Amino acid sequence: MTGKTHATCGLLIGTLCTDYYQTDLFTSITVIILAVMASLLPDICHTKSKLGRRFKIISWLVRILFGHRTFTHSLIFMLLIAILLYFIQTPVPYFTAIILAMLSHVILDMLTPRGVKLFYPLPMTIRFPIRFKTGGMVDLSLASALFIGALYVLFQPYIVRIVDYIVN
Ligand SMILES: [Zn+2]
Repeated sequence: MTGKTHATCGLLIGTLCTDYYQTDLFTSITVIILAVMASLLPDICHTKSKLGRRFKIISWLVRILFGHRTFTHSLIFMLLIAILLYFIQTPVPYFTAIILAMLSHVILDMLTPRGVKLFYPLPMTIRFPIRFKTGGMVDLSLASALFIGALYVLFQPYIVRIVDYIVN
């Protein structure tokens, strides 16, 4: 999947979390930013990815040590991040947004022919029976659908109020 698809999925997860936890404005903005960043984090192993370009040295190191779509796309990586977040006493809405956004990245990559090494260091490649090409039509449509979903969640209170106003 492209960075755009991952980021829009992170955006949707972020907005859903703010809705679920009914966070204030400052927390909501932080939750959304963290979710978008976390949704891109697993591709740090890719030097040409959005995050990889910004953090070239880390990206290069991860790639040399583990290769692409292995360690950073595994359950063990998510568990390590979860433990780290727990130890620095991350507030629950941030914690949930970050973990879910990372999980969404891995799930989306499981929809591509290349799959992911979910159980790294075990070598099995995990992917869904239905797969889509990165940057293909489905990838693009998915990004658009996720973006519309995020906008809907974000503006849902206003949409409900407007519909209410029109109906009554
Ligand atoms: Zn990836």
